[in-house]
Amino acid sequence: MRKRTEMRGYAVAETELSSFDRQFHARCALQRPDRYRLLDALPADAPRIARGGGVSYVGASFGGGAISQSLDAFDRLLAFDAEHGRLTVEAGARIGDLQRFLLERGWYLPVAPGHPRASVGGCIAADVHGKNPARDGTFRTWLDALVVQRPHAEPCVVDREHDADLFGATCAGFGLTGTIVSATLRLARPPRALVLRRVPVANLAEAARVLREAANAPVLYGWHDGGAAHFGRGVVNIGLASGDDHDRADALPPAAADLPARVAPLPFTAWNRAGLTAANRWLDWRWCRAGQAPMTLGDALFPLNRARLYFAGFGHAGMAEAQWLVPHPRFEAFANALADLVARTRPRIALIASKLFAGTADGFSFDGNGVALAIQVATPAAHGERAFLDALAELAIAHDGRPNLIKDSTLEASVARRAIDGFEAARARLARHDPQRLHTSELARRLAL
Ligand SMILES: Cc1cc2nc3c(=O)[nH]c(=O)nc-3n(C[C@H](O)[C@H](O)[C@H](O)COP(=O)(O)OP(=O)(O)OC[C@H]3O[C@@H](n4cnc5c(N)ncnc54)[C@H](O)[C@@H]3O)c2cc1C
Repeated sequence: MRKRTEMRGYAVAETELSSFDRQFHARCALQRPDRYRLLDALPADAPRIARGGGVSYVGASFGGGAISQSLDAFDRLLAFDAEHGRLTVEAGARIGDLQRFLLERGWYLPVAPGHPRASVGGCIAADVHGKNPARDGTFRTWLDALVVQRPHAEPCVVDREHDADLFGATCAGFGLTGTIVSATLRLARPPRALVLRRVPVANLAEAARVLREAANAPVLYGWHDGGAAHFGRGVVNIGLASGDDHDRADALPPAAADLPARVAPLPFTAWNRAGLTAANRWLDWRWCRAGQAPMTLGDALFPLNRARLYFAGFGHAGMAEAQWLVPHPRFEAFANALADLVARTRPRIALIASKLFAGTADGFSFDGNGVALAIQVATPAAHGERAFLDALAELAIAHDGRPNLIKDSTLEASVARRAIDGFEAARARLARHDPQRLHTSELARRLAL
């Protein structure tokens, strides 16, 4: 941080921020309010955007000329009902810390993203999904109420009965309706013990069948080789509740503060073709054999805690993640066409993850009924990789796919508009709650939200 300016009781510091995928960097003004009145202290016409853990793949909590408003200081637990499983918490609280607190008391949040430093506000604003969205829905499923601070207004309590329109717009609203100050969440009882069953699959179509058959598992996701030679080969991980006390699931995830928001990149890109081939071969040997073993809930919720080297391996060039949800009837054709595209263009795909969804999309949310593929690509700015990501988007749209807007920094406004049914209606809903368009970010600018 370089320059610090103090005006009208609020302070901003100039700082360099970058998206988790390293595709967007900007010099920004950052406000770190530490009391409620400072959440609404910015000048009337100042563009602004809330910032939680800052671990979004894209520039969603900064950029676009906005002052980023960090919710770091707002991480207190306001109420906990241990009998009925209800939690009211400030929006800056980290998901990993909440899971630690709750697991020790016999509860947990069934929907949590893979990074423990994501905040409650960030999870609402992205309407994140967890380890099995087909069973547990997305974050909004467990959200009862929230308090939103809009510019020059009193904070308002919003739920499905009182201002359902603002409630709907704020979930997957990317911070563009106002700053979420606190939220009340419903909790679930965690499985007492978990076993991880691994089912090897030869391709993505087979993975989709295995995912559908295991739709009720508390943990359900696939990992797949993205190389042309064995495209789609991999494993579906099925985490099942176990009656056997030897399989106790209660090892806690590490505290969010013990984990860096970012892993320092290696000075070179390890995920070149040779590196990816070697890694896929190792993972195939290590993971892709049928079997069953006990698993802790901490590992199930945050598997990427153990994959820091994986992210470092992208080097300074970073990565991009494209995530598309394709309806069941179109999925097999999509998977086959994708295999052809990869065979033709040979992009540097570092990882493909598959997940099952069974919900209904609302606004810009990433939800629906089908199978989602998250495809992580190394050196996405390189000509071949960029061309692949563009072709992937066209292929997904041709198969009625829906993109996850807050994951993919390569997505353009024209593509998002064609891919999301009701794009204009969702945009108009956001505008109703921020008619002056005071909230903005790199994501909002790029996609013309
Ligand atoms: C390793 C890794 C694994 C991930 N796994 C998953 C996953 O399994 N499922 C999934 O869905 N996502 C996943 N994500 C994405 C991530 O969980 C989301 O992008 C989430 O929004 C990040 O939360 P954050 O607090 O860091 O938000 P930030 O990055 O700070 O901000 C994200 C958005 O939320 C808004 N926001 C943040 N706080 C508030 C607030 N208080 N009020 C209003 N708006 C606010 C911001 O304005 C911005 O638009 C993963 C990301 C990483 C890096």
